[in-house]
Amino acid sequence: MKHANIPVFVPHLGCPNDCVFCNQRKITGHDSFSIEDAKRSIEETVASLGEASRDAEIAFFGGSFTGIDRTLMTDLLDMAKDFCDRGSASGIRMSTRPDYIDDEILSILSNYPVKTIELGIQSLSDKVLIASKRGHTSSDSIRAMKAVKSAGFELIGQMMVGLPFSELDDEIKTLIGICDAGADGLRIYPTAVFACTELHEMMMRSVYSPLSVEEAVARTSELLCIAHDRNIPVIRVGLCETDSLHGENGIVAGAFHPALGEMCMSEFFLKLFYRELDKSGSLDGKKAILRVAKNMVSKAVGQKKVNINKLKDKYSLSEIKIIEDSSLSGYEFHFDICS
Ligand code: SF4
Repeated sequence: MKHANIPVFVPHLGCPNDCVFCNQRKITGHDSFSIEDAKRSIEETVASLGEASRDAEIAFFGGSFTGIDRTLMTDLLDMAKDFCDRGSASGIRMSTRPDYIDDEILSILSNYPVKTIELGIQSLSDKVLIASKRGHTSSDSIRAMKAVKSAGFELIGQMMVGLPFSELDDEIKTLIGICDAGADGLRIYPTAVFACTELHEMMMRSVYSPLSVEEAVARTSELLCIAHDRNIPVIRVGLCETDSLHGENGIVAGAFHPALGEMCMSEFFLKLFYRELDKSGSLDGKKAILRVAKNMVSKAVGQKKVNINKLKDKYSLSEIKIIEDSSLSGYEFHFDICS
């Protein structure tokens, strides 16, 4: 599912809501929006991608696309369709809220080369949705996910980790609910606390305890294991690093680290390795060679070789090497144990 996106940020337009964690303008780094700006931004990205833009999707992210003024929405879709018709992009994707999906909207979208709809599910626990002031219920999300799939679109579910009142069990149920609704992929966002949000105030009043980076890595890596077992791709973990995440209006607490995605992936690999090596009997004093797919070596090794050290200690191995094996792909791995 990996392909380039041509992002167009639609900041907070169409969203009357005020989720406690959201400071959308800060996340996108854009304070204003016009269709001319959007077109110019697409043209610039298409030019920089060159031939690769033919496979890229124009991606309306940042707000609730299907909730914006209907004329502006169809003008944006018409503009994006022109790029697709000229062969400068392969299709359109968008993110929106579950309660902004209905038959009429899906029927409009089906007149355009829209391939993928990303839904901000965040949690399928109603207590978490209420505490986060999402303004919709878990049944709205289930209904919307099923409607998106029934209408023939690819569905990506976006979920958060560490929202108010959310425990790992709530997050596991959310992930499984998204899988069961037929999602084609997931984005997982550990909760970061932005300045000037209600979540920040809740934290200051001690009614919300943000996740530490370590807690976020532990919980997210559990979710990655379940996603792996269910064969659902996780296309993103954590917020993209941008200048607007920092400074006086940026992140003040919670689960944010520039390498958060990589750290979660390393911990996920470690859990997979434990599962496998736990079946191997005593490994005391033995050597292990672990083969992983191309581009997975650094994730498998972990920052500062943390996974190598943990594996060596846990199983009392005399030596462990993690090497690339071009015959493997994705998260496949293979252990060779020798005396
Ligand atoms: S629905 Fe999305 S854009 Fe609207 S307030 Fe919530 S997180 Fe922000």
